[in-house]
Amino acid sequence: MSTAPSPALEKKLRVEESQGQPGSGTSKSKASFESWGRYPNYSANVIPLHWQSDFPAVTEGLHNGILPVGMGRSYGDVCLLKDGNLLVTTGMNRLISFDPETGVLTAESGITLAQILDFAVPRGFFLPVSPGTKYVTLGGAIANDIHGKNHEMAASFGNHVPSFELVRSDGSRYICSPTQNPDWFAATVGGMGLTGLITWAQLRLKPIVSRMIDYEGIQFHGIDEFLELKKQYQHIEYTVSWLDCVSTGKNFARGIFMIGDHSKVPDDLKPSPEPKLVFPFEAPGFALNSMSVSAFNTLFFHKQMKPHVKTLQDYEPFFYPLDKVLHWNRMYGKRGLLQFQYALPWETAKEGTIAILREIAKSGLASFLAVLKAFGDIPSLGMMSFPMPGIMFALDFPIKPGISFPLMERLGDMTRDYGGRLYSAKDAAMTPEQFKVFYPNWQDFARYRDPMISSSYWERVTGDQPSL
Ligand SMILES: Cc1cc2nc3c(=O)[nH]c(=O)nc-3n(C[C@H](O)[C@H](O)[C@H](O)COP(=O)(O)OP(=O)(O)OC[C@H]3O[C@@H](n4cnc5c(N)ncnc54)[C@H](O)[C@@H]3O)c2cc1C
Repeated sequence: MSTAPSPALEKKLRVEESQGQPGSGTSKSKASFESWGRYPNYSANVIPLHWQSDFPAVTEGLHNGILPVGMGRSYGDVCLLKDGNLLVTTGMNRLISFDPETGVLTAESGITLAQILDFAVPRGFFLPVSPGTKYVTLGGAIANDIHGKNHEMAASFGNHVPSFELVRSDGSRYICSPTQNPDWFAATVGGMGLTGLITWAQLRLKPIVSRMIDYEGIQFHGIDEFLELKKQYQHIEYTVSWLDCVSTGKNFARGIFMIGDHSKVPDDLKPSPEPKLVFPFEAPGFALNSMSVSAFNTLFFHKQMKPHVKTLQDYEPFFYPLDKVLHWNRMYGKRGLLQFQYALPWETAKEGTIAILREIAKSGLASFLAVLKAFGDIPSLGMMSFPMPGIMFALDFPIKPGISFPLMERLGDMTRDYGGRLYSAKDAAMTPEQFKVFYPNWQDFARYRDPMISSSYWERVTGDQPSL
């Protein structure tokens, strides 16, 4: 994993990172646009957008449906449209304005959070909500109404978006905010790109005086200890836990509770270095098995030698540890990976999490990357937003024929029975029946869908098709 890439490969991948996905050239091309999980794998026409005025002009003469997409950092099929036309926004990434008095930045929707950070951090500003990778676009962050480690204090991404412009395939335009066209705002925040193209958006940044984070990592054993720590540290802005979901017996549900606040000691606000490592090849299927994962988890748990550490840490490894290795999804091989991510309400959070963890441990399907955290109770603004007050849990599974999908269905059913929901941005396996329980607003939401726009996710969970 730590193999250094050749300079040529590193340059090529950096260009991919900064410019979007393979296929983003200057004209329409049949190419595969992958989501992060690399499953499902569909071909589509990839149409790069460079100017806000490109849409809806580029749709003229198209015979199949369309879908605006960003960096393809969603895991499943929410950013895919089989045999359709993907409008890739990453070429539409200009910064339009910034007001240092209010911290409000206005930019085209294809700008990435990495590009916003490069601009904002040296000026003493930071993202209000940050996901586990900075390689997502502003439009993608709004369309999935993403959440970060500070959900309890800051809620979701859409709560920090004063306004944006939505353009529909018939050319109609809406300026949307919580007070202007509020129904279109609520449908588009978390609306998975289905209501139209977000051309530009505003984002309220927050002031910082240092790149550094006052970090603490605390080992815990079991969900009770996790909940205790959560209560004890509720005054800290960022909290997240890494969880070992392979070990059983006395090590069942052990983990590291990681917390941080922006340092209040003024420091040099220098820009971020370039990422250095690239996962260079497709891992063979046997590389990931429960032995290797168990060994990794034990190493990770004991990497933190002391039960409690305190340190000053740069924001990059704190927020984006996985971005250190570009294309780490290749570790799962050609078949790809599935992510299972749920939110459970407080009433069932503890019981449900223990039951689901037992089911996962029993399945023997290994996972390195299990994350546990709490969601707060500030409501999200989107009709289809994922968060609910309670516990959020996420982990990756390699795709193993005959095993992974039945397991995902069982886990989805358990999530439903405990009153929770799965995250559409990470999903490739939810059943239509589960979807309709998880997102009871879906029929109201469907009234706002642009008739020309669809996604493989939407077609899978509703059976709906674009009407051209
Ligand atoms: C390593 C990793 C860590 C992650 N951590 C988190 C996390 O902590 N929290 C979290 O919430 N998510 C997380 N994610 C998921 C990721 O933040 C979301 O899937 C995000 O929406 C991806 O943005 P994107 O630019 O790649 O959009 P895509 O994946 O390309 O598209 C996402 C959706 O946005 C729509 N869309 C994109 N651009 C536009 C536009 N201009 N107008 C209208 N619709 C548009 C698409 O149609 C699609 O439905 C993580 C992903 C990875 C790979």
